[in-house]
Amino acid sequence: MIKRFLTFFLAILLAASLAGCTDSEIADGAVVCSAFPEYDFARQICGDSADVVMLLPCGSEAHDFEPTAKDIKAVAAASLFIYNGGESEVWVERVLLSAGNVRSISLIDCCTSPLYVDGEDGREQDEHIWTSPKNATLMAEKIYNVLCEVFPGKKDVFESNYNALSAKLTALDNACTEMGYRMKGKTVIIGDRNPFGYLARDYGVEMMAAFHGCGHDSEPSAKELVSLIETAKENDADIVFYVDFSGGKIARTVASELENAKTEQLFSCHNVTAEDFMTKSYYDLMMQNISRIIGAEHAAD
Ligand SMILES: [Zn+2]
Repeated sequence: MIKRFLTFFLAILLAASLAGCTDSEIADGAVVCSAFPEYDFARQICGDSADVVMLLPCGSEAHDFEPTAKDIKAVAAASLFIYNGGESEVWVERVLLSAGNVRSISLIDCCTSPLYVDGEDGREQDEHIWTSPKNATLMAEKIYNVLCEVFPGKKDVFESNYNALSAKLTALDNACTEMGYRMKGKTVIIGDRNPFGYLARDYGVEMMAAFHGCGHDSEPSAKELVSLIETAKENDADIVFYVDFSGGKIARTVASELENAKTEQLFSCHNVTAEDFMTKSYYDLMMQNISRIIGAEHAAD
C-alpha cells in the first residue's frame, strides 16, 4: 500500500516537473525557445516577468527532435521565438514558414568564427556554439537586446537580471581560461560524440573523441576506437568521459582497456534531464564540466 502510494506520488512529482518543459498548454504570447541554452538565458533575463518555455521535452535526445502540432501552434502564438539553428533544427524553417510573422532570433548567427564538422549531408557548421562561454556571452546579449525590443516596458527588470547573468558568464569564461592552463599538455578522452569543439578551440583544451562532431547513430570504426585507446594509454587517462543521453557504452569499452580508469559524464547542455531543468542552469552544468575535466588532470598526475 505504502509502495503504491509512493509510486503514485512520484509519478505526480515527475509529471509536475516535466510540465515545466513540455507544458501541455503554452500560453499565447510566451517566449518560446527551442533548446536548453537559449531557454536558460531567456528565463534568467525574464525572471517572473514573462512566460518562457522550451519546446524540447526534458530528457530527450535533442538531435532527434521533431515539433508536434502543439509546438507549431505555440511558435505561431509566441511573442518571440528563440532558436539555435543548425543541423538539429532544420525543422525551424518549416515551422517559421507556417507561423507567419512571428518575431524570431537565430543564435547560430552570433558565432563569429564557426567550426565545421562532418554531418550526415557532408561538412556543416557545428551547432553546439554554446559550449564556449565566449559564444554564450554573445547569445545572452542578443537575447537581452531583442527581449527589450519586444517588451519595452520590462527593460529595467531585464537589465538587472541580464547584468547578473552576464557576471556569471564572465566568471565561467575565466574558469575556462584557467582550465585551459591547467590542461596544457593533456588530452581529454571522450569515448563518445564530442559537442565541445568550441570549448576546446576557444580555451586551448586538447580533446580526443570517438566521433568527430555530434553524430550519434553510428558506431566508431575499429580503427578510430584503437587510436582513442592508444591516446588514452599515452596520456595515462584515469577518466573516460561520455556525454549526456548516450548511455556511455563506448566510454566503458575504452575504460575497460585501461588500468583503473573510470567513466564520467559531461553535460552538453543541448538538453537536460527533468531534474536538472528545475534545479540547474547552463552556468551550473558548465562549471560541473570544468571541475570534472580538471579532476581528470589530477587523476592523471
Ligand atoms: Zn548536440
